[in-house]
Amino acid sequence: MEARFASPQPYSSFDDFGKAFPEQGNIGFEISTDNFQSQTSEISMDVESDTRSFPIFAQGFLNSPLMEKETKRDKENYSKQCLKFCRRISNVLLKYILRDEGIANEIFKLNAGVLKNFATALSLPAPSTYELIKIQIETLQRLWGKFRDHLAFSKNKKISIVQQEYWDLIFSKEASIKHLREDIKTLSGLWRTNEGRQLLQEDTVNELLARMMYCSSKMLVMYLILEDPSEKNSFSEGLEKMENFILLGLYPGFFKYYNHKSGKFALECCGKCKVCCSKLLPPNFLIELNSARRGLSFVISKLSEMSAWYGSKPFELVVCLMEFAYNQFA
Ligand SMILES: [Zn+2]
Repeated sequence: MEARFASPQPYSSFDDFGKAFPEQGNIGFEISTDNFQSQTSEISMDVESDTRSFPIFAQGFLNSPLMEKETKRDKENYSKQCLKFCRRISNVLLKYILRDEGIANEIFKLNAGVLKNFATALSLPAPSTYELIKIQIETLQRLWGKFRDHLAFSKNKKISIVQQEYWDLIFSKEASIKHLREDIKTLSGLWRTNEGRQLLQEDTVNELLARMMYCSSKMLVMYLILEDPSEKNSFSEGLEKMENFILLGLYPGFFKYYNHKSGKFALECCGKCKVCCSKLLPPNFLIELNSARRGLSFVISKLSEMSAWYGSKPFELVVCLMEFAYNQFA
């Protein structure tokens, strides 16, 4: 047992970037190695300069968690941080998707074009772009509304920690798409126009839209956290352990191996708690965790690079962002 709790190898998220790539793990590790290798060859290795364009990096974000020195803070209780993160991201996202401009709006326009082509292929009358954008907004409002309501103290007095079931609602591909399919089905019965109802009632459209909305939502979370387009650049203010939540958002399979109280992952935590001693813990857990951290660095550097290249061309930017999202998240 001793060896199981051996100190993990010091990990620097950037130092060895590009030298090794994650293998497909069994912890919901969704980045495919193929995509990794083909896409990495095209990107700059100068990750540090690529990531400087994101405001959040100015605050020392993504300092390698294992390189942190033991401080008094390690003894602190981080239980509420995940709840705080989820409430904040749901409020920000639900407001952001209503804007008539910005990345969310551009993503919806792009998706609307795909849905229109689908309608034509199915010989159905295509709803207008405006209507197709509304459909997407209302679909996301249903999904994120459930998430937000569960986490709101006013609606759930017993809430003290975010349960995996609710985390998965947004971040797990299977769970999120399942909920989205149901939400779209409900929406199809209530929709205001014949064209919209007819389109949404098609099973293939339901499936396509559910997958689109899962990828769009996950990409928007990443974008909103990294770009922080809020007026005061205040997303991360007062939030601790955010790098862990971003990792858990990308790889929700790690959620059950995260100790919310210590704000650490199994085997990096104490070696004594339920999480560290979980019988479910795979033998190569630390290797998978480090692979996930490299995956996270890769995603961040890629998004940063796209943002720097296409910052002033929103259409080109969302085409790249969504292509990346479908390759990596779907
Ligand atoms: Zn522990």
